[in-house]
Amino acid sequence: MDRLQQTSLALGPASGRFDCHVVEPGRAVPSLEEDVREGLLFAPRSLPPKYFYDARGSVLFDRICETPEYYPTRTEDALLARCADAVIAEARPDHVIELGSGASRKTRHLLDAVERAGLRHCRYWPFDVCEPMLREAGERLLARHPWLRIDALVGDYLAGLDGLPRPEGRRLFVFLGSTIGNFEPQQARDFLAGLAACMGGRDSLLLGADRVKDPSVLEAAYNDAAGITADFNLNLLRVLNRELAADFELGAFRHRAVYD
Ligand code: SAH
Repeated sequence: MDRLQQTSLALGPASGRFDCHVVEPGRAVPSLEEDVREGLLFAPRSLPPKYFYDARGSVLFDRICETPEYYPTRTEDALLARCADAVIAEARPDHVIELGSGASRKTRHLLDAVERAGLRHCRYWPFDVCEPMLREAGERLLARHPWLRIDALVGDYLAGLDGLPRPEGRRLFVFLGSTIGNFEPQQARDFLAGLAACMGGRDSLLLGADRVKDPSVLEAAYNDAAGITADFNLNLLRVLNRELAADFELGAFRHRAVYD
């Protein structure tokens, strides 16, 4: 915990059960400006996904999860509802540490199972770049699980996991939503190796990953008919306009999702 810097505690009735900490990067991380300079000069142009998730982007992602086309959330939610008790019985966690937790909606199944298993001392550590989403998700979870203690972690998990807390006891690491699929193969290997290095023999990892399927199903999931994913994607340009005083005209860009 000594590497974490605590920020304000601004939750209402449930405060005392929710803390928010900043996780310091374990290595030098490029600034937004540096990432943009490099990513937009590369062919094909690309930018790290973390920049999608300002407060507006995180709300849009949460809405994407409810579109009829975005099957990954529904599928994983159903799997967790079915398997959470078995996962918790195997892991017997004292701490649940979730990377890229977002709205933590699916995690409620794990926490329900923790409760059913009588492990009410278990703490939840959601780790995400988006602090407003961590706070909102925290309030929702505390309303459902009044016994729960939440230590929200704000930071970039790609900046190294050395700054993660290493509380005593058995830890269940959770990485859902097929976010691993956002990584290039080498980046995924490095990330998993970094995670393995933080884990002890009694810890476990629950990884949710999608599988290859008909490209039309995949492409529809990332191009919903209501246009929420398009809005989410183009929101990145809005982030650049705001943060870097860029002058992208959003109307001049179109969202296109292609399966590689
Ligand atoms: N796990 C949730 C959310 C997935 S979306 C689910 O399955 O529905 C990806 C989440 O990871 C977002 O909440 C985003 O803010 C967060 N995220 C993306 N890149 C990140 C990074 N480099 N470090 C920390 N969080 C990140």
